[in-house]
Amino acid sequence: MRTGLFFEIMEVIKTKREIRQAVHKLKTDGHKTALVPTMGALHEGHVSLIKKAHELADDVIVSIFVNPTQFAPGEDFEKYPRPIEQDIELCRSEKVSVVFAPSREEMYRGTSYISFDVKELGAHLCGRSRPGHFNGVVQIVNKLFNNVPADVAIFGQKDIQQFRILETMAAEFDHVIEIVMSETIRAEDGLALSSRNRYLSPQERQKAPMLYEALLSITQKAASGEAPEAIITEQSQKLESNGHRVDYLQIVDYNTLQPVKSLQSGEKYITAGAIYLGNTRIIDNRIFQT
Ligand code: AMP
Repeated sequence: MRTGLFFEIMEVIKTKREIRQAVHKLKTDGHKTALVPTMGALHEGHVSLIKKAHELADDVIVSIFVNPTQFAPGEDFEKYPRPIEQDIELCRSEKVSVVFAPSREEMYRGTSYISFDVKELGAHLCGRSRPGHFNGVVQIVNKLFNNVPADVAIFGQKDIQQFRILETMAAEFDHVIEIVMSETIRAEDGLALSSRNRYLSPQERQKAPMLYEALLSITQKAASGEAPEAIITEQSQKLESNGHRVDYLQIVDYNTLQPVKSLQSGEKYITAGAIYLGNTRIIDNRIFQT
């Protein structure tokens, strides 16, 4: 057991007032704090973020909140998994100091008169097929950063557009919290771990790693000079003929998140994709430099 630390037993906090007090206490005691925001249904991907947070701070705070404002009508908000007791146990075994698990009413009180607009950062990739999604993400993470003013926040590369938008939000809104990216954790066959993978039937699960294979192939060919459009079309057709419904496959500029037709040397890019298998949407990406 760590000595001299405020939390030797993990706390589960449900109110904004208490989490602000807890973070304030940790900070005045001289502890560096790290926040790992999640929607729960925790898996090894989330655990890797918690481990990274331990490397960077004395105390790790995990937030668990399925944020309604980032789900469009008809998306899976209602059926999103919420195994809260299991999640709390996992956090305990990963030596998390505080779990912040507010109710919907605690996070959103009364009418909201102000909205966010991620503008062109949300014009492509997931932002295009999920209108309003990233405005909701910015809204909730802005609230989280105000209520959990940790020193550092860890986000996964798995949601690269989210990461880039939140990095931009922190810079534009003068959040002093440091934003850190953590690598994507995968199953042995390459499929990126996701809370939504549990929706896949055995047959769909078997086909799911093909998205990652397509992204690897596109990235490798693009980095060696082939024109993006042709290789994307080729991989898209391959996925479709194997039962995937391609939402998008794109190469975008790392900074602007705008699609590119040709690559410049010395620049950073993202190859990103989203597919549906049945009703389940799977996303993944690769970052590369030319
Ligand atoms: P979520 O609970 O899906 O909102 O994800 C919470 C955080 O975990 C986000 O920063 C995600 O990018 C990250 N995450 C989700 N899946 C993975 C994964 N397979 N590997 C690493 N991080 C992940």
